[in-house]
Amino acid sequence: MTESCTKKNHSSDNTTPCSAHETCQDLHQILITSEQIQKTIERLASSIQDTYADYDCVMIPVLLKGAQWFANDLSEALNHDKFQFLPISVSSYQGGMQSTGQVRIDKVEKIDISGRPVLIVDDIYDTGLTLKHVKQWFESMEPAEVKTCVMFEKDCDHAHEVALDFVGLPVPDEFIVGYGLDYQEQYRELCCVGILKPDLIEPEDRIEYAQPVS
Ligand code: 5GP
Ligand code: MG
Repeated sequence: MTESCTKKNHSSDNTTPCSAHETCQDLHQILITSEQIQKTIERLASSIQDTYADYDCVMIPVLLKGAQWFANDLSEALNHDKFQFLPISVSSYQGGMQSTGQVRIDKVEKIDISGRPVLIVDDIYDTGLTLKHVKQWFESMEPAEVKTCVMFEKDCDHAHEVALDFVGLPVPDEFIVGYGLDYQEQYRELCCVGILKPDLIEPEDRIEYAQPVS
């Protein structure tokens, strides 16, 4: 039994159960609390503001769906219209627990990033396949530079190494859910991050995740 997931109210010092309170009961263990997440967002926003102080326009592609929750909070903390968030539909997990090994960029608005700095925002750095693919894709469009920012860095061997410029928090080499990260499209709304109870994971996914990523 885990303690429940709570969120601090902006207007007072009280905490309330997060909006996904019921699914929070599905966690075997909470790894990161909502409070840790909020502190991390403030730290990252301040570091990003310092880094881009001399620029008047920064393009921020956000890798959907997972990074949307992180990007919303980051955008609120950065609070400046020079940071232009650009949602991009990318997938490599497709609902299961292991990367498919292929990255799909589904739809991107026509954008002109030539001569501008780009900061790619993703939820988690796992194998690195997604980030590496997307980074190369943006680099081919002649921006001023391309940097990367992830909320979580998994403690594993990253088969596809990518230099990270801004990192939120380390997480163990486990399949985690919450704060944008899903299992079969559930648990994204959790305001904390944790590990699911094993009996909620389909038997075939349990086997898959136990095998090394090739
Ligand atoms: P990659 O393996 O390419 O670094 O990660 C690709 C994507 O897989 C991440 O952006 C994230 O959406 C998803 N992913 C990676 N690790 C996890 C995890 O532990 N839990 C969940 N729910 N998604 C993950
Ligand atoms: Mg993702």
